[in-house]
Amino acid sequence: MKHYFYLLGFSFLVFFIISCSSKEDISELPENDVVSSEVPPIYSKIYNASDIYLEGDFVVIEVNGVPDHYSPYFEEEDSRNIAYDGVNNNFNLNPNRIITTANYTYKIPLEPSPTSSPRPTSLGSIGVAINEVAFFNQYAGPNNQPLTNEINSFDQYNGHPQQQGVYHYHIEPTYLTASKGNDVILGFLLDGYPVYGPFENGNRITNSDLDEFHGHAHITDDFPNGTYHYHITDADPYLNGSGYYGAPGTVTQ
Ligand SMILES: [Zn+2]
Ligand SMILES: [Zn+2]
Repeated sequence: MKHYFYLLGFSFLVFFIISCSSKEDISELPENDVVSSEVPPIYSKIYNASDIYLEGDFVVIEVNGVPDHYSPYFEEEDSRNIAYDGVNNNFNLNPNRIITTANYTYKIPLEPSPTSSPRPTSLGSIGVAINEVAFFNQYAGPNNQPLTNEINSFDQYNGHPQQQGVYHYHIEPTYLTASKGNDVILGFLLDGYPVYGPFENGNRITNSDLDEFHGHAHITDDFPNGTYHYHITDADPYLNGSGYYGAPGTVTQ
């Protein structure tokens, strides 16, 4: 009789293990299930993150920053490498290639708020696009060098890698506006405010529609109570103006 109970207990244990492991088969889950339940659902827009969770007053977004589209900047032996087929006759492939083994941790305020002492953006990542690629500001280098020449090295999706291989967008990420829409959230800056595409209600947004930080506040489909947000435009400064509207979080590698 005692053996019978051991056997019964063992059978339940086996059943339990099997049912649990089938639930944890992550290949069955949609990609944005990495977003933990207490994180505001808006962050599930970032569809390629490795992990998204809360840490105190911050949303932590872990990504590896590799674009989910082809690029001539992948190493030649990488299956994601394709030739440039964009419209810029002056395209000039820079010598950098996309690093695929890095990881970046963004910590951005859970509840963004305006700051009375706005900070300018730095060189390097100023935010993260919904496909986990970094956003960079309107400068090519120190002393506010404009993007004028750098634009010729943007691939057919308007991105390129810097010297360490970090792929990034300074201007409209055309892969995202084509695949997700030109009037939707395309990412977040480090201060936690969202970045929207270049259109709103069917009209193209221009720099004159926006404030000095390159944003404005109103109701959107995602924020029925309204929010400040940035817009990408087709003219300099493209994505951010004179700095962050809110206090920025951090990005580390
Ligand atoms: Zn750049
Ligand atoms: Zn707007």
